[in-house]
Amino acid sequence: MNTRWLAAALLLFNSCVLSADQIRSPSAMSQSGPLMMRLIASSVTAANRAGKIIRDVMSQGDLGIVEKAKDDLQTEADRSAQRCIVASLSRQFPNITIIGEEGVSDIEVPSDWLITHGDPEILKKKCPDTLEDITEEDVVVWVDPLDGTSEYTQGFLEHVTVLIGISIREQPIGGVIHQPFWGGSSEDGAGRTIWGLQGFGIEGLPPIPRTKEPIPLIVTTSRSHSNSLAESCLEAMKPEKVLRVGGAGYKVLQLLEGTATAYVFASPGCKKWDTCAPEAILRAAGGSLTDILGRPYNYGSNVSRPNRSGVLAAPTVQMHQALTDLIPEHVKTTLKD
Ligand code: AMP
Ligand code: MG
Ligand code: MG
Repeated sequence: MNTRWLAAALLLFNSCVLSADQIRSPSAMSQSGPLMMRLIASSVTAANRAGKIIRDVMSQGDLGIVEKAKDDLQTEADRSAQRCIVASLSRQFPNITIIGEEGVSDIEVPSDWLITHGDPEILKKKCPDTLEDITEEDVVVWVDPLDGTSEYTQGFLEHVTVLIGISIREQPIGGVIHQPFWGGSSEDGAGRTIWGLQGFGIEGLPPIPRTKEPIPLIVTTSRSHSNSLAESCLEAMKPEKVLRVGGAGYKVLQLLEGTATAYVFASPGCKKWDTCAPEAILRAAGGSLTDILGRPYNYGSNVSRPNRSGVLAAPTVQMHQALTDLIPEHVKTTLKD
């Protein structure tokens, strides 16, 4: 095992808190409560509805695949799920900015795709003090209606997620990851939803049990978009194991569940809608996601969509710091601009 990683992970993982249970005492908070909680609550219901659309397209069998660019597919599920989410959020919050992977959406949608309410349990929770006063003009919502499209078309359904990331004044503050095929593809009990908010924590996953055992370096990375630079980075880091799975959302879930201890992708390719929700949730749980050099991404409405300098993430800030030290110089130099 890489000894530099081991020292950092051993020392620091045990002191981290991956809080998944920060339910405040329910207060009578209605649809007129703080914008932040209404937005998260409605993003959860919209993501769940989009997940059902994604399951329905799969069970009907005609995926309607379009090749947007090399190695970049779109299906009927991507298109319809985005229309559902954008129509639902823009009608409830007319002055927020919404940026979706599939471009500008037609928001005239079937009435049963239109979500008009937030998750009632989330609406009962207390908004963190620092987020009580945000206005719709402060908000940019980044939507990846179906993260892991390659895997969706190839039947790796567990890798598929719906991502709704909420940035406030350019920072990734809140996020929803919905996994529509978790638990199987039948409608009974299919799917789970994880959400997180800065100053609140996360819900939808149990905390990782603390351990005094050494934490192995288990890297999760792309299964369908790797290249020689990304591979040379992994090789230099000497991980104990490499997991190759689809989607930024699914890889961050692996970090939050403890299946992986690092997400490393030393390549351009991911976009802001891929990382906003996962980063917000990871941060709310005490972790960190940056570019491969350890620099944070910015999520304002005018930023460039591609994350040109890769992705590096870990379930604690300290493990993330240890990872940045393991990235070889030639990788940092190649991706720094
Ligand atoms: P992956 O880990 O390969 O599943 O990628 C995570 C997200 O970034 C997915 O939404 C991919 O579509 C996107 N992505 C990563 N690399 C590329 C690439 N070379 N071309 C297009 N999309 C990419
Ligand atoms: Mg994606
Ligand atoms: Mg997508």
